[in-house]
Amino acid sequence: MDIVLSTVMGFCTGVRKAVTLLERALEEGSRLNLPVYTIGPLIHNEQYLESVEKRGVRIIASPQEAEPGIAVVRAHGIPPSLHESFIRSGFMLYDGTCSRVMRSQRLVEKYTQRGWTVLIAGNRDHGEVQSIIGYAEKPELVHVLDSPEELSHIHTGAEVLLLAQTTFPHYRYSEIRQELRTYLEELGISILEVVDSICPATKLRQDALSDLLTRVDGVVIVGGKGSANTRVLYERAVQKGFKAWHISSSSEVTDAMREISRIGITAGASTPEWVIDEVVELLQSEVRRGNA
Ligand code: SF4
Repeated sequence: MDIVLSTVMGFCTGVRKAVTLLERALEEGSRLNLPVYTIGPLIHNEQYLESVEKRGVRIIASPQEAEPGIAVVRAHGIPPSLHESFIRSGFMLYDGTCSRVMRSQRLVEKYTQRGWTVLIAGNRDHGEVQSIIGYAEKPELVHVLDSPEELSHIHTGAEVLLLAQTTFPHYRYSEIRQELRTYLEELGISILEVVDSICPATKLRQDALSDLLTRVDGVVIVGGKGSANTRVLYERAVQKGFKAWHISSSSEVTDAMREISRIGITAGASTPEWVIDEVVELLQSEVRRGNA
């Protein structure tokens, strides 16, 4: 069995920033004798979350759940109302909101202030989308959609801004954009601004996967089960007709993977390097055993 690694995988800059910020919060917490929290799981990776939990980090959703301390905002961001509520309750906030998410937050704030309808292609329950919606001056102007079919249920104003969750698949965003243009033309609405808000980190990993798939017979995608960008990588590999496995750690490596003669490995943007290394090492040890 040959193992081929993707040229781009693992932590993106936004996740690295949030993880670094938590390390700083832990140092400061121990210096000031303050508890350290993250607002929601810092990243979608169970192994990482277990490792920081052992170091005393607690996940909370609101300031009412814990005594004041240092709370780290994850890359998805939080709505401004929640931000204020933490500050009012005496917490120190370390803001790990990714700069790309901040851009979407600012756009939603600005365009809803002007009375535009804002459409967000994404998952309404995702933390990033929730944080972006929180910035709307008038929440009733914001609609979230996952597919072009949902457009028929949405009543837009005369001016429309379209943006996407940073991890939304490119092909689905193009479908929505095309359908939206036709839909608005039929309604006689011509002012449409489209923001290319899909993160290149996601695209870079998707492009690297496409390249990887030209050199392998199957692929293992390492990442948390709740990680949207990891799921997109998995869906893409399956769509292209490849044998693919989405695993969160080396404990999920199976014999079926070992039967692939050339196996590719990639990982989502929230997968720590040590989790990827463990998977690679386990598969490599099987290769060595097979060659012995
Ligand atoms: S995937 Fe992109 S938008 Fe999301 S945290 Fe990483 S760098 Fe930021």
